[in-house]
Amino acid sequence: MLPAISQLLVLQDRDKKLRQLKLELKRAPLERKDMESRTAGTGSALEAAKLKAREIEVKRKELESEVGSRRTRIQKYNQQKLETKKNEEYQAITHAIGTIEKEITGIEDRELELMEAADKQKPIIAAAEKEAAATKAQVTQQFADLDAKVKSIEAQMLEVQAERAKLAAEVEEDLLDTYQRLFETKDAQAVVALTNEICQGCHVKSQTHVIHAVKAGKVVTPCLYCGRILYPEN
Ligand SMILES: [Zn+2]
Repeated sequence: MLPAISQLLVLQDRDKKLRQLKLELKRAPLERKDMESRTAGTGSALEAAKLKAREIEVKRKELESEVGSRRTRIQKYNQQKLETKKNEEYQAITHAIGTIEKEITGIEDRELELMEAADKQKPIIAAAEKEAAATKAQVTQQFADLDAKVKSIEAQMLEVQAERAKLAAEVEEDLLDTYQRLFETKDAQAVVALTNEICQGCHVKSQTHVIHAVKAGKVVTPCLYCGRILYPEN
């Protein structure tokens, strides 16, 4: 194989590696965003569970004060009962007290239901708290892992870039230009094998004189159909 082609193959390998590393680096912010939305998700589930508990408590307190005001009314009626001399009025007050007591019983039943609902909410909050804490811990670890990964990718890129620069300096300028243009436009396949007389870039059978030239290995020979640089295989 032509030494120039061997050099280009190594260069192509490093360029592919660089392309891969760049892709991985580009994915990092997306991965970070994913992790953030997972934390936010469990956080808002916890907030919703807590909010429901607060709403239950507010409603229960409202009912409590409704009972309180009714009891005050009963006290006043009882006072009036003591002061009245008229039997008719006495009966009316007794009836009114009875009505209010019935109302109180109804309100207290609803209060009891709310207390049961509050009790049911407790394990839901505890579970949501546990879930949120676990997710936060997990995501914190993943953040650290991702940061380490990014640092490692950046270090690898520097290394490969330095190596690539050295390799590129050894390739003749025109050939390097051709190679770089092909690498960019032919999906990172600038130098390809000619296998069983078929170009592995465009998968077209090469013409006889091209096959001979590639096998002879005296000059850099491109595929007549796709322009990729060919090297012999089989
Ligand atoms: Zn081709």
